Amino acid sequence: MSPSARPKAAAAARATVRGRVQGVGFRDATLRRARELGVMGWVRNGPDGEVLVHVEGDVPAVAELLVFLHDGPPAAVVDGVEPETVKPEGHEQFAVRGVPAGVFVVQEHQATAHHYDLRLEVDGVMRSWAVPKGPSLDPAAKRLAVQVPDHALAHNTFEGPLGDGGVIVWDRGTYEQGGRVPWPEALDRGHAVFVLHGEKLRGGFALQRTRDGPKPQWLLVKRRDQEARSGSDVVTERPESVVSGATLAELTGDQVG
Ligand code: MN
Repeated sequence: MSPSARPKAAAAARATVRGRVQGVGFRDATLRRARELGVMGWVRNGPDGEVLVHVEGDVPAVAELLVFLHDGPPAAVVDGVEPETVKPEGHEQFAVRGVPAGVFVVQEHQATAHHYDLRLEVDGVMRSWAVPKGPSLDPAAKRLAVQVPDHALAHNTFEGPLGDGGVIVWDRGTYEQGGRVPWPEALDRGHAVFVLHGEKLRGGFALQRTRDGPKPQWLLVKRRDQEARSGSDVVTERPESVVSGATLAELTGDQVG
């Protein structure tokens, strides 16, 4: 169904499910039931052994999913479900949250122009953006990110002199896909939300496309969460490679700075 043809959800609920509900296939079972019912939203493990669910859709279908949560899959022991009525958010998928979608890497690259290449693994390739000022943990910093060609995963570990400059692996880790729209459609539509689990970059980020064309321009913005650091400048504070500990200037023999 196209987004325009999809009726707006009539009802939405947030539920906390307590008991023996983690490590028993609860999230996958909820995902299957949600797809059977045609409801949208997400399921994730909470920090204290609970399962958290956001569900929206037709009133009877939302009610049916809440009924399911009282039992869960066969291995679960549900002690209680605390549902709360919330506003529909316009989700276009039902997703398992809090699970890695793949790897990410940020490579600091001295070429004709100095920049940082942000790469996210999507469907077997590294979708890539060149960020001249580098990423920031300050939610007030909106960083230009120019979309560049996809790279192979094999390039993620590259560090060394290159041409007149060089490359260091400035950060790396895994990431979670977020947002109301499934990936890679979220990227195609120009708004993608994700959570980074790197050594320097952590927490939620958003990429928002601002100009289309042969070299699409995006803005990379840190979302406001516990990992946000207002007023900080992580590329200055942590210039070193997460692989070798060397800075790009050290690696290239101080040709750059
Ligand atoms: Mn580059």
